[in-house]
Amino acid sequence: GDLWEFDPAPESAPAYLEDRYKLFIDGKHVAPSSRKCFDSISPRDGKKLAEIPQATQADVDAAFAAAKKAFVSWSKLPGAERGKYLFRIARLLQDRSREFAVAETLDGGKPIKESRDFDLPMAAAHFFYHAGWADKLQYVAPGRTLEPLGVVGQVIPWNFPLLMLAWKIAPALATGNTVVIKPAETTSITALKFATILEQAGLPPGVVNIVTGAGETGAAIVNHPDAAKIAFTGSTEVGKIIQRSLAGSGKKLTLELGGKAANIVFDDAPLDQAVEGIVNGIFFNQGHVCCAGSRLLVQEGIEKELVARLKRRLATLRVGDPMDKNTDIGAINSQEQLTRIKELVKSGIDEGADIHQPTCKLPGNGFYFPPTLFTGVAQSHRIAREEIFGPVLSIMTFRTPEEAIEKANNTCYGLSAGVWTDKGSKILKMAAALKAGVVWANTYNKFDPSSPFGGYKESGFGREGGKHGLLDYSSLR
Ligand code: NAD
Repeated sequence: GDLWEFDPAPESAPAYLEDRYKLFIDGKHVAPSSRKCFDSISPRDGKKLAEIPQATQADVDAAFAAAKKAFVSWSKLPGAERGKYLFRIARLLQDRSREFAVAETLDGGKPIKESRDFDLPMAAAHFFYHAGWADKLQYVAPGRTLEPLGVVGQVIPWNFPLLMLAWKIAPALATGNTVVIKPAETTSITALKFATILEQAGLPPGVVNIVTGAGETGAAIVNHPDAAKIAFTGSTEVGKIIQRSLAGSGKKLTLELGGKAANIVFDDAPLDQAVEGIVNGIFFNQGHVCCAGSRLLVQEGIEKELVARLKRRLATLRVGDPMDKNTDIGAINSQEQLTRIKELVKSGIDEGADIHQPTCKLPGNGFYFPPTLFTGVAQSHRIAREEIFGPVLSIMTFRTPEEAIEKANNTCYGLSAGVWTDKGSKILKMAAALKAGVVWANTYNKFDPSSPFGGYKESGFGREGGKHGLLDYSSLR
């Protein structure tokens, strides 16, 4: 049978969770010095799921002290030895993937089929990929020495909690650094559970330290004098605060921030394929995706046909309980995010765009929002400019490739873009002109650990994944 055949409300799931979690510092599970916790709410039903420790400055200090101590021997370990730990972590994530997928979905609201088929396999793949690099760093920079930086401080968002953690930890360890990491306050559970994987893998104490809390805890990491590098993924707003606070500090910084990607469909595109790519581009993970294709640019002649097809496709999306394996669109991560989505959708209506939502019955409890399309959108509208981070697509038109390029680049962001056309030459021309770190052609949301990912403009700087990601965790001598 199907291992993943879940009852919509599995009795066994809560057994995967603890009532109250502890911080992970110097290889030990410790209570926060404040003795305070905050609640993690499941967006699936709005109910409390677990208590998360509130780390203090003293806890962050202890985490850095442990990481600094561990760095001495970890950085000297032969690459092949470090690689073995990463392989073990990857295998353990595979072994325990069901448990982690359930925890991720209960805590964050994403459909179980996405946690199961995307987040978990990708997290494991990231550790496998970097395990392979650990003893081959000389190929990154021939004739030179790549040196680890020291203790790196890492702060991550709530949209891909475990996967973002893997994106951060795997390259840092492969290159010989040690880590203090903080997950987002609404999705800390899989990070704290991950500590048990590190224990099972026998990772030396202090190599990875996991602290939890809100923005103040993140700031305590960013501003810690023992941090050699800060790697941040989150909003452009907080990225700017961090960049300002680190000015002149000498710390290395990489920022993976927001996006407002254009998904561009030409009139010669394979439309059935494009519809699937558009739907995946904006509704995957409820649209809580930094590279979500949230602006659809359609060549004028096919607008009517494409919008009609999209409306039909929207009506078939299953919105609801993220633990149901048939669900396409799960729960919005938090009440706060739901309020923000509603506010931006209201602004779209107020500014004169036309809204379309299929009729769908949403669960009575928890945080849910239907898939939403806007047509008649102007570039000046907030829904065309601001990152909504929800299942909301703003549709605009263009006549020529030049106009498409101009509109696509008319944003402060530059993380990703999509191009749909039958013509290879058009793809190459568009890819060269689009100011975005990733351009997908006749597909969307394709990721691979070997492919560097990162932004232009206010989407940040630095790359994660691939050989370039390793360089951001090293200095070259
Ligand atoms: P956020 O910026 O509100 O929070 C991100 C993290 O930063 C959280 O852990 C938070 O506690 C912490 N934080 C908050 N204030 C801080 C401060 N002053 N100093 C240090 N840390 C602080 O972002 P979010 O709402 O959690 O995540 C959504 C955002 O993340 C979106 O804008 C999305 O585009 C972006 N994102 C980008 C990428 C990428 O690769 N470019 C990937 C995923 C998400």
